[in-house]
Amino acid sequence: MPTPLLNVAATCVGTHALGPGRRSVVWVQGCPFDCTGCVAPEWIPQRTARLADSCDLAAELLSDPDVTGLTFSGGEPMLQAEALAAVARHARRTRDVDVVCFTGFTLERLRTRPPSPGVADLLGEVDVLIDGVYVAARDDGRGLRGSTNQRIHRLTGRLSGFDFEGAHRQAELHISGGEVLMVGVPPRGLLPALDDVTGTVTGAEIGSQEETA
Ligand code: SF4
Repeated sequence: MPTPLLNVAATCVGTHALGPGRRSVVWVQGCPFDCTGCVAPEWIPQRTARLADSCDLAAELLSDPDVTGLTFSGGEPMLQAEALAAVARHARRTRDVDVVCFTGFTLERLRTRPPSPGVADLLGEVDVLIDGVYVAARDDGRGLRGSTNQRIHRLTGRLSGFDFEGAHRQAELHISGGEVLMVGVPPRGLLPALDDVTGTVTGAEIGSQEETA
């Protein structure tokens, strides 16, 4: 049976800016929300970006032997739940990674009216789910979430020692092929400062989302 393809906006192998430990990150392309202040508006359109085989992508994410966890963000991961669940399953056959996932949908909505096939499968692979859309007025500059309306759901006991609400925010700049990828939930004042320095920032963690209508 063919493995599902994932429509990928960007990846980062090996970061300390998006969760506990050393992690690899997948940002998916396409989001149904339109949050004011979204730091990655180029990843909102539902267009084909990079189509990746879930098994190949899992191998890519684990190509750093020190990676202990995966983070899924976007875009909206729950619109590609089936393929992301496959990525997590493939990765875990190789290494017992933990999984953190951002979503703009609330957990209640995901359970009662899943927006795509495979949502239950993906929730079954996720250790910590950060739900809700980004609300700029509620961005307190703290934690691994973009705004205080977002909730941290610990779906398993893993990562219980990490303070997602109060963690000091950090960001990394990954530069490749003339493009700058910002990884992390940006601390206050970082994006204007980056614009001054680089002119263009091509990607970033989004970190906030919410229930859809
Ligand atoms: S902040 Fe997240 S949920 Fe909101 S538009 Fe951007 S990618 Fe979508």
